[in-house]
Amino acid sequence: MTSQPLSLPLRRTKIVATLGPASDRPGVLEAMLKAGVDVVRLNFSHGAADEHRRRLQDVREIAQRLGRSVAVLGDLQGPKIRIARFKDAAIHLTQGQPFILDMAMEADQGDQERVGCDYKSLIDDVTTGDRLLLDDGRVVLDVTQVVDQEVHTRVHVGGKLSNNKGINKQGGGLSAPALTEKDKADLITALDIGVDYLAVSFPRSAADMQEARDLLGEAGREIGLVAKLERAEAVANDETLDGIILASEAVMVARGDLGVEIGDEALIGTQKRIIKHARTLNRAVITATQMMESMIESPLPTRAEVFDVANAVLDATDAVMLSAETAAGDYPVETIEAMNRVCLGAERERIAQESSHRIHEGFERIDETIALSAMYAANHLEGVSVIACMTATGYTPLIASRIRSKLPIVGLAHSPIAQRRMALYRGVVSIPFDTTHMQAEDVNGEALRLLKAHGLADPGEHVILTRGDHMNAHGGTNTMKVLAVAAESQ
Ligand code: PGA
Ligand code: MN
Repeated sequence: MTSQPLSLPLRRTKIVATLGPASDRPGVLEAMLKAGVDVVRLNFSHGAADEHRRRLQDVREIAQRLGRSVAVLGDLQGPKIRIARFKDAAIHLTQGQPFILDMAMEADQGDQERVGCDYKSLIDDVTTGDRLLLDDGRVVLDVTQVVDQEVHTRVHVGGKLSNNKGINKQGGGLSAPALTEKDKADLITALDIGVDYLAVSFPRSAADMQEARDLLGEAGREIGLVAKLERAEAVANDETLDGIILASEAVMVARGDLGVEIGDEALIGTQKRIIKHARTLNRAVITATQMMESMIESPLPTRAEVFDVANAVLDATDAVMLSAETAAGDYPVETIEAMNRVCLGAERERIAQESSHRIHEGFERIDETIALSAMYAANHLEGVSVIACMTATGYTPLIASRIRSKLPIVGLAHSPIAQRRMALYRGVVSIPFDTTHMQAEDVNGEALRLLKAHGLADPGEHVILTRGDHMNAHGGTNTMKVLAVAAESQ
């Protein structure tokens, strides 16, 4: 009476793939999930509510058919600041020439001298000497003066500038709040269509995450919030960073916007710092943007991309993310296959399997103590094949998976929401497990039977099991057992 065996959890690092026109092509979404996608991203910067709803339903239907738990992450656009449009769709700027961002200009009247902007507060947020980065830093403008509704600049790096390109301020400091009116409407849509995670773009501090949480309210209390770290001020000091991490269920190293604001040189250490802080604070972390960029147009990644993904894995990220590669690229399935391969290769390295996580720090909670002790035991005792956590919400597997290991961590959960939540956690695989009709004394034996049926435990091996005295209560984990797998477990 067990569910169908899962394919073995070979890869520990999870893959997040953004959906779009490329994944809408017949058969592609199913092939992507089969190739190993764990979490899909619905990007609310593009597309209408109906489109997101249809994609979510397709994901649910295919995942069900494949016997997989795939999480859906809705990603709010946030206050991405953009120039308006040009009469001729694009212009070419040359170094040294003056150029004006004109808040009073009509949206489609841009020319060689000036262009409109959708963010009217820009005039209050910039002063002489500030540097503005357009189109992800391809065009650089230095502010010379702010006059009424006009930001006067001189072109520092020229080039082509086309309609609706993004604007970042170097060093951060644009005051736009994280949740725009569009985001608030999209948040309701995301809640309504049933996402598992919701990403907030450009949060400045924990308060922005709290605002999203308040808007989700009681109806959205099981949705995991993801903070996209993409503003200089969000990572400027540990207090702000840790505050944002603690106000969220997961964070994203949003290297696209963050890299533009803080510069590529600072981005390197910042990625590592964010991952380390997230794991120490028992939160999941996604590393995103341009990971396999060349695969938008090519069936093979560059060596540099291979190493970028591998290094994120060695940094101990929970997940690596694909954006245009799977949403709009020519090779969405090949990209997942390549990412899968690279993750597996990196995970073979010893540093990906060993951990001194919190070894010199105190613990605060009982479930945390059990989860971390279980990992310590599993990593040190010969012959352990799996760590199995009976969990109501997925929280114990999350904490356990903060410690590196080469052993699979299995979340035994009844709730499909908890199962999907675990799809993001590195090294964690979830198996449906319902104890409601079991006798208390049969529960451990049933768990062992299930693990054996899925090929996760063989006779002669040991299983480390964590559970609470009271099943199905959040935070109730207080027990760890080392169970021997008998040849004839009933
Ligand atoms: P985006 O966020 O893809 O929504 O811009 C990720 C990033 O900025 O890296
Ligand atoms: Mn971004």
